[in-house]
Amino acid sequence: MKKIVVILLGAPASGKGTFKSQIIKYLEKKNLKYTAIETSSLLKKKFQKTIATGDLVNDQDVIEVVKEKLATTEKVVVLDGFPRTLVQAESLLSLKSFDFKIIKLEATKEEIIKRVEYRRICPKCGTTYNLSKKDLCPKIIGICDRCTTPLTKRDDDKNISKRLDIYYQNIKDVEDYLLKLQNTTFCNFDSRLLFTSDAIEGLLKVIVPTI
Ligand SMILES: [Zn+2]
Repeated sequence: MKKIVVILLGAPASGKGTFKSQIIKYLEKKNLKYTAIETSSLLKKKFQKTIATGDLVNDQDVIEVVKEKLATTEKVVVLDGFPRTLVQAESLLSLKSFDFKIIKLEATKEEIIKRVEYRRICPKCGTTYNLSKKDLCPKIIGICDRCTTPLTKRDDDKNISKRLDIYYQNIKDVEDYLLKLQNTTFCNFDSRLLFTSDAIEGLLKVIVPTI
């Protein structure tokens, strides 16, 4: 049986991290083995300088890193941050040993900018906070709850406008291509429903009825 790859599409800071953790929670509840691939983390290790300037790593390098990772996965793969360009999409979908399920997280540019404005990270332990949400706020403003390190903005959040521009330039072609494909499922999901577990479960039952 083919491995299932759940592809999460969505702009930077549209909530894909939260979305992914909700999906993982569901898979764990069902006792399913999975591999979560966060493309940006894979790339950060190898291409730190390019990413810090807000530019994208070139297609061939990204494709190579992701394909390498896909070769050693569990039956269900949750893929975040890939594909972002048409070349990447064509390369991924040409892999015949996988069954692709595509979910696009919808968020407006205004919602994204607002989310980023309030997002903080602990540079020491990596805990993330959001100052606009009561339950995601640190107990003392500006200080990490876990290790008392002063909080900062994420490096890549400082370039959010540039990253969004590049994202929107490329994603239209990717979506048009993915929508035309036979034998793949494509769904939209409203990011405002991210914390509604019923909505997430409902979506997953539709998109991956076999898991
Ligand atoms: Zn910390």
